[in-house]
Amino acid sequence: MRHVWHPYSSMKNPPVPRLVESAEGVRLRLAGGAELIDGMSSWWAVVHGYNNPHINAAVRAQLSKMSHVMFGGLTHEPAVTLARRLVDMTPSGLQRVFFCDSGSVAVEVAMKMSLQYWHALGRPEKNKFASALGGYHGDTWHAMSVCDPVGGMHSMFAGRLPASFFAPRPEPAFGADWDPSSFAALEGILRAHADEIAAFAIEPIVQGAGGMRFYHPEYLRRLRALCDELSILLVLDEIATGFGRSGKMFACEYAGIEPDIMCLGKALTGGYVSFAATLASDAVADAVSEGVPGLFMHGPTFMGNPLACAAANASLDLIGRGGLLERIREIEKILSDGLAPLRGSVKVADVRALGAIGVVELKKAADMERFQDALARRGVWLRPFGRLLYTMPPYVISDADLKTVARAMVETVEECAQP
Ligand code: PLP
Repeated sequence: MRHVWHPYSSMKNPPVPRLVESAEGVRLRLAGGAELIDGMSSWWAVVHGYNNPHINAAVRAQLSKMSHVMFGGLTHEPAVTLARRLVDMTPSGLQRVFFCDSGSVAVEVAMKMSLQYWHALGRPEKNKFASALGGYHGDTWHAMSVCDPVGGMHSMFAGRLPASFFAPRPEPAFGADWDPSSFAALEGILRAHADEIAAFAIEPIVQGAGGMRFYHPEYLRRLRALCDELSILLVLDEIATGFGRSGKMFACEYAGIEPDIMCLGKALTGGYVSFAATLASDAVADAVSEGVPGLFMHGPTFMGNPLACAAANASLDLIGRGGLLERIREIEKILSDGLAPLRGSVKVADVRALGAIGVVELKKAADMERFQDALARRGVWLRPFGRLLYTMPPYVISDADLKTVARAMVETVEECAQP
């Protein structure tokens, strides 16, 4: 274990990670026999649970045909089917699908597409990006450049990354009254720099790793209109929110808007393997294809991996079985009720739930190890960060297990959080 460098960790006295031997449904089985309910869906991806028989069967069937084949000049049925299904279920303007390896790469691809789009249209000076504070779009270089440069986890790279323009955090909160003044700063930045900005990138409705905040759909409607007026592409990063997490199949549906480019990942394969997709409108794809060099310049080795496509198709079968959004509404209610005892606590700044996301915002930063030990004693796996203790459970979680997760969060805050 001493050779393995874990995410966001030091190699000097790192906390000892828990050894998982297998996982089934919503439970992680640890060495030694303990079981933990996974309230994280393995970083928000394993929406149908572990060892899902339908996805297992689809991946096995594909494995017996071919696990991989290069995508340059070759294609295969799982990719063709998946692209059609993604086009059918996402906003109607998105017609072209570019498969990629991970969420961060999907964002990189969206940014490269935006640059090639303006280059092709003879506007190469539109080569910067804009975003909002509180956002998170991944850990690769250009994806980091649109993450929150101050409060985000990449602030140590500030000054090295390509410069982007940042509007204040999207306000007001989801469910609050719309306040037009909250849009003024964003509007000012975009009007002043429209000639330089290729695209505005944002997570719709839910800002995830940048703070687990939910914001007002009217913000997105106004943003869409402003981007149209100022000729700025709108990139919606639905990597965390896509496939039901926010309570809609895609969070942009809350605002009834369509992006020019959309990024999908995480739950795309039911969390089975790293895989993502960047979807583009015909206008974007046509411009890129008709400009110079007339090719979209990206093509990783494992692009369109057939096993990943098979897992994604099987995940979409399960999503299409019906009742998913109703179940997610029930999950929201159980989380909201279950976390309610923390409302008004002196240790807690806010409690909120939207879709299959339940968040306790603490007044002081959580001691991750202490919190995780307290949660594990209660049979639950969560990974708090900063002042946030949150859950994004698999959609297949039972009411009883979900209540256990919520109760463990309440008791852990009572036991471990600082006022
Ligand atoms: N975009 C959003 C909104 C995310 O939440 C994440 C990951 O948490 C990413 C992009 C990056 O995805 P990946 O970790 O698959 O590179």
